[in-house]
Amino acid sequence: MALPSRLVLLGHPVAHSVSPLFQNAALRGAGIPLVYEALDTPPAELDERLDALIAKRAAGNVTIPHKERVAARCARLTPVAERVGAVNTFRTEDGALTGHNTDVAGFDHLARMALGRSPLPRRVALLGAGGAAAAVLAAVGKWPGCEVMLFNRNAERREHLAERFAVVRHTTGDVVEAVKGCDIVVNATPLGLRPGDVLPAPIHALEPDAVVVDLVYGRAETPWVHAARAAGHTAADGLAMLLEQGALAFEWWFGVPAPRDIMREALEP
Ligand code: NAP
Repeated sequence: MALPSRLVLLGHPVAHSVSPLFQNAALRGAGIPLVYEALDTPPAELDERLDALIAKRAAGNVTIPHKERVAARCARLTPVAERVGAVNTFRTEDGALTGHNTDVAGFDHLARMALGRSPLPRRVALLGAGGAAAAVLAAVGKWPGCEVMLFNRNAERREHLAERFAVVRHTTGDVVEAVKGCDIVVNATPLGLRPGDVLPAPIHALEPDAVVVDLVYGRAETPWVHAARAAGHTAADGLAMLLEQGALAFEWWFGVPAPRDIMREALEP
């Protein structure tokens, strides 16, 4: 497989991203002579930047707020990117972009890790209706017998997402109602990223044996994961999803196994 000339992360902002840390560790570990660069790309500059990257035969990742716009710029989408309507991974083929989405498999990996030996849950509460929520729905849509209760503040966005994914059986604007009776509760909002954020769902409203999965991650456990564990819940933050989506992107770009241990160690304090 021909190497891309550049490997980049497009987002705005991207300075906080830890992807360069573990992707560069992976490149060194696999002996691939490329550097993974975070390119801060304001929305007004996205089209021009993509033109330049296509001309150079670049590959890379996409993060907030560009995942949907990059999907629209792709000449080809993998079936999973098409399903989600968002691209987090791309490469240049025959002078045009091909888009892929590794967030879906990244979430599936995180959820299975959090569940351990428990069976896949049938009743899922999903909080949020953005791109990450769409990736979660594409993943849980493959779980046998699964039904999703979707919560989002903005009703229009909530109903629009529910129409796209048959696995959504109920929608609500009340987070306490959303988590009632659910075996697993997934946070796909950014709540927890900023100090002083409220918890995505109050812990007292969760079923006593509900598993908590927070797509938000940080160097320490997120406030919601911390509170859930303190109340006796099994809980996991989004770091394992981040690493797995990155490892799967690496494998899609280069066609070789990703050095997952090296990637994980690169994030250890
Ligand atoms: P997005 O497209 O901007 O969607 C954000 C969603 O969160 C919207 O549904 C929004 O609701 C909701 N929201 C925002 N602020 C809120 C608040 N204060 N209270 C309640 N709901 C709020 O973002 P995204 O791409 O889906 O990403 C969401 C989060 O997932 C990110 O911040 C990131 O932390 C995490 N993520 C993690 C990974 C990983 O690998 N671990 C991958 C992707 C994303 P409204 O529609 O009502 O505005």
